[in-house]
Amino acid sequence: MGRYSPLEVRYKRVILKLSGEALAGQQGNGINYDVVLEICKNIKTAVQTLGVQMGIVVGGGNFWRGVKNGEGRMDHMGMLATVINALALADALESLDVPVRVQTAITMEQFAEPYIRNRAVRHMEKDRVVIFGCGTGNPFFSTDTAAALRAAE
Ligand code: UDP
Repeated sequence: MGRYSPLEVRYKRVILKLSGEALAGQQGNGINYDVVLEICKNIKTAVQTLGVQMGIVVGGGNFWRGVKNGEGRMDHMGMLATVINALALADALESLDVPVRVQTAITMEQFAEPYIRNRAVRHMEKDRVVIFGCGTGNPFFSTDTAAALRAAE
């Protein structure tokens, strides 16, 4: 039994790691938009009702997982998969009137801001959810590593 009621905020700023598969629902791959919307409703409650600042690291396993060999190209494909998920989450959050920014560890400025730590913090301070795409930006890593890295940052 914890000392905290469910609605008591223990952490003011959090990193949420969402695996790609969490967005696929029962179908196991791709994106189930109803599932995404449900997840985003919970995020909205955390941010707008409880006042938690939130960054989200999203995986890409619902589309692609890299193979740990070769040039890392397969991992590049995996990182692109995380961006598809990041954009889907951003879209769903915006449809719920939650301000959101997407930042990617590999620059693709037509879609998203580049990852800049101070800027991400600033967004969160203004109650914008920041979604981090492309994991760490390096092949041979996973988005779990990225979540640990962003949380430490
Ligand atoms: N990936 C990568 N570097 C990173 C994060 C991810 O190369 O820093 C690639 C890797 O190929 C990985 C894929 O992106 O398999 C999808 O990420 P992950 O497997 O972590 O997604 P999840 O299991 O959370 O859905």
